[in-house]
Amino acid sequence: MKHYDVIVIGGGHAGAEAAAAAARMGARTVLISMSKAGIGTMSCNPAIGGLGKGHLVREIDALDGIMGVAADRAGIQFRLLNRSKGPAVQGPRTQADRMLYKAAVQRLLACQERLDILEGEVAVLLMQGEAVSGVELADGSQVTSAAVVLTAGTFLNGVIHIGDLRHSGGRVGDAASLRLADQLGGFALPRGRLKTGTPPRLDGRTIDWTGLERQPSDESPVMLSFLHDRPIARQITCGITHTNEITHDIVRRNLGKSAMYGGFIAGVGPRYCPSIEDKVVRFSDKASHQIFLEPEGLEDHTVYPNGISTSLPVEVQTDYVRSIKGLENVAILQPGYAIEYDYFDPSQLTTGLETRIAGLYFAGQINGTTGYEEAAAQGLIAGANAAARVLGRDALRFGRSDSYMGVMIDDLTHLGVTEPYRMFTSRAEYRLALRADNADQRLTATGVRAGLVGEGRRVRHDAKMAGLERARSLLEGKVATPQELRAVGIAVSLDGQKRSLWHALSLPDVSEVQVGELEPGFLNFSEDIRRQTAFDALYSQYLGRQRAEVDALRRDEAVQIPSELDYRQMSGLSSELRSKLQLRRPENLLAAARIEGVTPAALTLILAQVRRLARNVVAI
Ligand code: FAD
Repeated sequence: MKHYDVIVIGGGHAGAEAAAAAARMGARTVLISMSKAGIGTMSCNPAIGGLGKGHLVREIDALDGIMGVAADRAGIQFRLLNRSKGPAVQGPRTQADRMLYKAAVQRLLACQERLDILEGEVAVLLMQGEAVSGVELADGSQVTSAAVVLTAGTFLNGVIHIGDLRHSGGRVGDAASLRLADQLGGFALPRGRLKTGTPPRLDGRTIDWTGLERQPSDESPVMLSFLHDRPIARQITCGITHTNEITHDIVRRNLGKSAMYGGFIAGVGPRYCPSIEDKVVRFSDKASHQIFLEPEGLEDHTVYPNGISTSLPVEVQTDYVRSIKGLENVAILQPGYAIEYDYFDPSQLTTGLETRIAGLYFAGQINGTTGYEEAAAQGLIAGANAAARVLGRDALRFGRSDSYMGVMIDDLTHLGVTEPYRMFTSRAEYRLALRADNADQRLTATGVRAGLVGEGRRVRHDAKMAGLERARSLLEGKVATPQELRAVGIAVSLDGQKRSLWHALSLPDVSEVQVGELEPGFLNFSEDIRRQTAFDALYSQYLGRQRAEVDALRRDEAVQIPSELDYRQMSGLSSELRSKLQLRRPENLLAAARIEGVTPAALTLILAQVRRLARNVVAI
């Protein structure tokens, strides 16, 4: 029987990142997935990044994860979303060639030291008392370990719906994971049902592209990984078309046949990725919806029509798709479908994504999220923490003030989910500080300390940080009079006050070039360092204002509540609050404060109790 430090079940976005992270940390790791060839599959849209999601990819990359690197290798159309707005809400995104993406993920995993890949279906989790001790595969073979990360995606009790037809499946072409789902059902972990959907795939050779609007790649593409500065693959354009009244009428007339609207599905779907049925019903005042026609690859005729996911019967899909401009004679290669699956309430997880079962971690769609990026970020956190546990190292924690990953983990573990959770910039209260452009400045040093970041990236990062530091010192050390600033077009009042060039660069609409005219030494820095210095300067004034709030938040996050604290014995709290706290077991004071009904007075009591326990420990 083989033994590993960490077993990762599943080769989707969560599993790939979890396995790579555990192995980078130094744990001997095995990734077990139903199909080796399916590792890194994009189940739905062929794109990585976007608003909020691009931030997550950059954070994964800052910690030396694989998603950003794979996306850059496979990217066939790079676009920086919200380019006209401030950097804080800009989201790097790339449309990816599906085959290239999968190949890149598989190659990165194959090159990862201490990581083995095993093909097979995990049927049973092996238990030793209350803790997980390994897995048994469907063929009866066993693999043991002290930590298991489960990333089964939509496969647990997955049911695929097309109209009133339904069959068991993890996604089209893949079997569901039934035995494992059955065993997990007996674990008394709170769980529910969710659903998601995907559009029909079209044959690009049967689309009439003439007369359709085209969307090219950005002229100056922005990469997903900090390690790259330009695309590798050939860049393509997408087409844009629109639904119309005829499309909506066909959908409306057939709503009763839709799996989602005909009452065939009980699970809750993603409000933010509405199906065409949802759009027609919820936005009935709109006469048309935009559809992006995204080629799925350079050597692939398949086109993904972004914006019309559905669970209508195949013949209705054909009718409504053919009512759309450019698609009048289109052939459908694979019908759209909805999938319903089990998820587990993430509020039962620790912030390291460990379940109530010792050594068992959950990451990805199984925790009620939707999206590749959300899954990958959780995978990294779960994989790193599983490795830390086995290797006897400190747990790796992220908070709301340092990352979008921290925001997501805090939301999931303290609020749970009522619908598929996806990332938005609006979820982050400190989004001026948590930008996609500075993810490396926020996180890479943490990753180096944790052992997650390899030597190559560390050296590169140190050089960049040193460059940023030198550029900043240069600008802080050089001052200019209002007249000198005005002479290069920087509008300041004639108040006789000298200002540093760092301050000048922090003013809206002041460019690196203007500052360079006053300090030519600044122009000797690379374009990357100059641009980043400009972003850092621009946001420095806002960050000063946020600092007090962030400090208070960090103080509360830093007060760890010992797991042995018994709320049932705490006088001064209502019995309802006592049982709620006993059940939720917040890990720190901030987490306690976020539980509904916890008042400042209750927090004071908890803090006093934590201090009392700490004194007792010291006394012993
Ligand atoms: P997955 O990518 O599903 O990977 C699960 C992995 O686990 C697979 O490799 C599988 O083989 C393996 N596995 C499962 N059980 C076992 C077992 N017992 N033993 C061994 N291996 C096992 N996201 C969006 O953001 N927007 C969308 O519109 C959207 N639509 C979607 C539509 C559909 C039909 C589907 C299926 C997904 C959709 N998604 C969408 C979600 C996105 O694909 C997922 O959120 C993401 O892929 C989840 O990643 P994951 O790693 O958690 O799981």
